[in-house]
Amino acid sequence: MGETLNWLLPRVLLAFTGVVIGALAFWWAGQVVTISLLAATVGLLVAVGFVFVVDTWRAHRLLAWLKGAMQDSAPRDAGLYGEMGYRIERAVRERDRSIEWSQRQLLDFLSAIEASPNGVLMLDANEQIAWCNHLAAAHFSLDPERDLHQRITNLVRSPAFVGYLQAGSYAEPLTLSNLREAGLTLSVIVRPYGQGMRLIISQDVTQRERADAMRRDFVANVSHEIRTPLTVLTGFIETLASLPLTNVERERVYGLMEQQTGRMQTLVSDLLTLAQLEGSPRPGTDRWLALDPLLARLATEASMLSAGRHRIHAPAPTGLEVAGNEAELLSGAGNLLSNAVRYTPAGGDIHLQWRMLADGCGELAVVDTGPGIAREHLPRLTERFYRVDGSRSRETGGTGLGLSIVKHVIQRHGGELRIESEPGQGSQFKLVLPAARIREAEASRLPTETPHPVAR
Ligand code: ADP
Repeated sequence: MGETLNWLLPRVLLAFTGVVIGALAFWWAGQVVTISLLAATVGLLVAVGFVFVVDTWRAHRLLAWLKGAMQDSAPRDAGLYGEMGYRIERAVRERDRSIEWSQRQLLDFLSAIEASPNGVLMLDANEQIAWCNHLAAAHFSLDPERDLHQRITNLVRSPAFVGYLQAGSYAEPLTLSNLREAGLTLSVIVRPYGQGMRLIISQDVTQRERADAMRRDFVANVSHEIRTPLTVLTGFIETLASLPLTNVERERVYGLMEQQTGRMQTLVSDLLTLAQLEGSPRPGTDRWLALDPLLARLATEASMLSAGRHRIHAPAPTGLEVAGNEAELLSGAGNLLSNAVRYTPAGGDIHLQWRMLADGCGELAVVDTGPGIAREHLPRLTERFYRVDGSRSRETGGTGLGLSIVKHVIQRHGGELRIESEPGQGSQFKLVLPAARIREAEASRLPTETPHPVAR
């Protein structure tokens, strides 16, 4: 019994200890699972919360970028919001590029219209200014910004313009003068386009109109100048045919007829000279003429023309050469001398002078002691057919074209005609030649400024 107990007791104790340890182990394992589940749940919640917070933060960043000017790049985040930002930014950049391209196109287009030599003005269907270039603004005295969307007829009130615009028949352009800017003449063309819109093109034709008016005046003047001697001649011819004249009377009539034909010849010859001057190229600077023989020839011709009625003073030798057209220079200076001879009363003095000016230009002057010219006539003297005293001019064989020829000649040589005159004080007509057209002839030297040889 004791042995059996000895054998059983340790085994029971061992089994009990095993059960206790097993039970304890089982309990511990249960605890671990619970804790693990709990930890996993907490971990999951933390992770979800973190993702939520991060996404919300990214969404706010994207929203802030969208609300702003979108100049910087979109937030470069990972995930959905990052992708959305990238896509939106790409779409926006593409849109910006397309807008920029269209704007550049528009600006190029507007600059092209701005560069147009014509005024361009766009009117909307209510006759309000939609756009105009600066030239149109200048033509119609508009302010290209302030006057936008204003009715054009409130700003350009010329009755001719308003009537033309509203008549709606634009086959012929409108010639418009007497606008706010005095002296401006415009040619205006209107072209309808789009939905009741109109394009107005304006062109400054002031010069063209002036040239047309001058041409008309010129033709009228020439006709008048030719008709007068023709009428006189016709009268003489009728007289010769119908009246029995003595030889002396007939001689007188022939003389007068000769005078009239001479007048017409001079006129035609002056007209031809003018036409030639206008139609031929400018004299080059490579043809050099000795000045002294030219001056001597002019003085001789003046003496012949004066036929001893005046004292003609020739200049001292200059030792210079001038570049130009000899025939033109002779004709220009010859006209000045011819005027001096014709307008200076007998007994007067006529000086032909040459001097170098301080700036290197050369001045050929014809100075007379004639009646002089009132100040108000001086600016118009070189106009064709302008005369201070018409009858005196015709009496002395003048055509009214002499000074126009002189002005043309000197301008073609790059110089200018200067006129100084006062009634009772004689006249000075000066041809100023540019320095580039004057040089010293070989082996001669002259001071740059020679004193004025005339003591008045
Ligand atoms: P015209 O053939 O009539 O002389 P010009 O063109 O030569 O034409 O001159 C224009 C006008 O200038 C002349 O009609 C004359 O009245 C005036 N004129 C020109 N030269 C002189 C001068 N030396 N003295 C006074 N008047 C002059």
